[in-house]
Amino acid sequence: MGASFGVCIPVEEFDPAAIAERQLKPYLQPIVDKNGTVVGSEALVRWIHPTDGFLSPGAFIPVFEKNGMIVEADKYMWRCACEILASWKKKGSELFISVNISPKDFYFINVLEEIKKLTAEYGVSPSQLRIEITETVMMTEAELRMKTLSEFRKMGYIVEMDDFGSGYSSLNMLKDMPVDVLKIDMKFLSKSKDDGKAQTILQNIINLSEDLGIDSLTEGVETEDQFNTLNDMGCKLFQGYYFAKPMPLEEFEDKFL
Ligand code: C2E
Ligand code: MG
Ligand code: MG
Repeated sequence: MGASFGVCIPVEEFDPAAIAERQLKPYLQPIVDKNGTVVGSEALVRWIHPTDGFLSPGAFIPVFEKNGMIVEADKYMWRCACEILASWKKKGSELFISVNISPKDFYFINVLEEIKKLTAEYGVSPSQLRIEITETVMMTEAELRMKTLSEFRKMGYIVEMDDFGSGYSSLNMLKDMPVDVLKIDMKFLSKSKDDGKAQTILQNIINLSEDLGIDSLTEGVETEDQFNTLNDMGCKLFQGYYFAKPMPLEEFEDKFL
């Protein structure tokens, strides 16, 4: 797919120092199953900026998405994930890593080819690199995106729909979406304690995804109570501060490998 940069600053103008100097770092947050056993992780970018210090994605991802830098940053994160998975393979670990894909990536580059190339280069099994997309990916060229996601799945990659329920996603769209895992947005959780309606919605999302053969994962689990409630509702996977915050690779390996 050829790059067409629209109103964005061309990616070629990106000063690659941040990447060359490894200022961008993947932090890993564990993902657990119903027993609380760590089965994988999500790679979340942090920028250790030479003058501004430690930056969370909220401080720069929106800017990167506007100026096109997101493509280089994401390609770098996918490469890091493959590098880590290759080293874990040698240690006998089968944990997976989920990587985030911005809608802009699909616009600028051939995401499938890029990820195929990286997993082949590092000898990583497609089933261990999970692909997180958001519903906004489908807002342009929906048919083409569906085809790409189906291709990913045919090749053995696990496709996850991130932040489900945060935007305009509807339960109806799920029946046509080529996804394996639904990551349910944490907004349903924060409200759920005193909010019977949010609880009902959550239960329905979990039930529906199960009926469609899609695994459910709830993000933002912060308490034991939430974990137990979600477990009772039939949710399959969990991620949140209750288990651990995102952490540097070395710390993750010490704790969970
Ligand atoms: P996301 O992909 O939905 O990632 C989950 C976010 O929720 C992370 O924020 C994580 O730290 C936070 N989180 C996890 N558990 C809890 C919890 O129990 N409570 C609360 N309050 N928050 C929790 P983070 O790391 O700040 O990332 C924010 C967003 O930035 C991500 O949301 C994702 O959309 C984007 N992002 C992060 N890394 C990348 C990347 O490498 N590439 C792209 N394209 N986007 C990224
Ligand atoms: Mg994500
Ligand atoms: Mg999310």
